Amino acid sequence: MWASKVVAVDFDEVLAESMRACLAFHNYTICGQDIEYETITYYHLEDNDHLNITTDQAVQWFDDFNEQWQNTVDPVLWAYEKLLERKQQWHTMILVTARPSSLEKQTRGRLDKHFPNIFSQYKFGSIYHSTGITRSKAEMCAEIGADLFIDDNMRYLLDVQNHLPNTQLFLYERPRNHEYKSELHPWITKVSSRSDIFVA
Ligand SMILES: [Mg+2]
Repeated sequence: MWASKVVAVDFDEVLAESMRACLAFHNYTICGQDIEYETITYYHLEDNDHLNITTDQAVQWFDDFNEQWQNTVDPVLWAYEKLLERKQQWHTMILVTARPSSLEKQTRGRLDKHFPNIFSQYKFGSIYHSTGITRSKAEMCAEIGADLFIDDNMRYLLDVQNHLPNTQLFLYERPRNHEYKSELHPWITKVSSRSDIFVA
């Protein structure tokens, strides 16, 4: 028997193949330099030493894409059935995204199309964007009383762990989360396939 839990779920790279779509949109270039999916090891692109760009340029790169993303981003293939399975076990699903609230309409449209009847609330943090009032993932998780938090960005997981030590953490494997070490982060469950996720 499953107990009811509040599950905070990230959007980009957990539910949607956003980075691949963003790279394709920009023809695999940023500020005149080549950029590839596998060699981006930090989400904040200015932290990737092989790219010589500023924070403003990185934010602008994502913002340019976000104006058109709705027609080009594919959903993560396994995600819907796993979320539905847990929802049927009385879990409450809440979207907790770093996206700005200016993207709420198109984000919810995408969720309605690919993840219908899953989410009961939507939280927009406006982290790493040029518009909106910023709220951290920890603040948003605290607001909803998240029992579980699923994200692909180690920094957000560490932030939540710091402020909400009782929240179970799941890291979805992507090239950007190489900072994860099982011996250093035993409280984080790293998941890389549909069968692994929501193992708790
Ligand atoms: Mg993400």
